[in-house]
Amino acid sequence: MENNLQDIQSRNNIKCIKCGDKNPGNFYDDDIKLGKIGREREKEIFCIKCRKERRRELLKVDPGKHLASIGVPPRFYDCTLENFKGGGEYIEKIHFYLKNLIYLKNLTEGLYIYGPYGCGKTHLAIGILKELRVNYAFNRPCEELKFITTPELLLELRGAATQKSTERTLILKYSRYDYLFLDDMGAEKTSDFSLSCLYQILNYRYNNLKPIIITSNLNLDELSKKLSSKDEDNPQRIASRIVGLCWQIQIKMPDYRIQQRKEMRKNKDAQG
Ligand SMILES: [Zn+2]
Repeated sequence: MENNLQDIQSRNNIKCIKCGDKNPGNFYDDDIKLGKIGREREKEIFCIKCRKERRRELLKVDPGKHLASIGVPPRFYDCTLENFKGGGEYIEKIHFYLKNLIYLKNLTEGLYIYGPYGCGKTHLAIGILKELRVNYAFNRPCEELKFITTPELLLELRGAATQKSTERTLILKYSRYDYLFLDDMGAEKTSDFSLSCLYQILNYRYNNLKPIIITSNLNLDELSKKLSSKDEDNPQRIASRIVGLCWQIQIKMPDYRIQQRKEMRKNKDAQG
């Protein structure tokens, strides 16, 4: 009862320190709670619009602080959707996807982004991760977002293969993130064991409506074939889980990259 009263009071007294907005409907619950704590915290109250701007700013100023714990490698700290040079049509598709995911909250599918080496798939994945961070995940601990390359993930799982309990813990860990980013799927050395683990993670996420964002050099047919040199059922099951879990976006090599490559090859030929 007292809590309710405090809640109503802090809702009525709230004011964005940046734009002066006082409409309680324009604030995150977490920020309203923050406002309740005491006077000195009041300076940190932002309305949703200003809070998002603030998050974007912080990501720009000190990306490592917010991205390292999620698993993003430093090479990709500066990647955003805005500075992707590989084609506006992909960004449009991704914004449409994010709009469904964040604002309409009716989307449980992830993305399967595929295309040739060097086309900027990882760049796009990091751009998406940052958008989620800005729009959705900032006030909660980083545990809801995780970025990892698939080979790294499988290595970690293989390392745990000898201890059953750790293997289970790891599978659960990667199943529970709200958003899981698996970079470079299909590049890993596969084994029955790693495929089985991967399948379990995908299956858990499928059943629990948790989005996954995957990048790969291979389309799903190729991925299925690549994986199926080994085990009986897992590869096809994995590919069909991905179909059930993801929208697919094919990235073609942008012209400027093709040009760069041609020139590099020319220079090489000229030298040798
Ligand atoms: Zn504001």
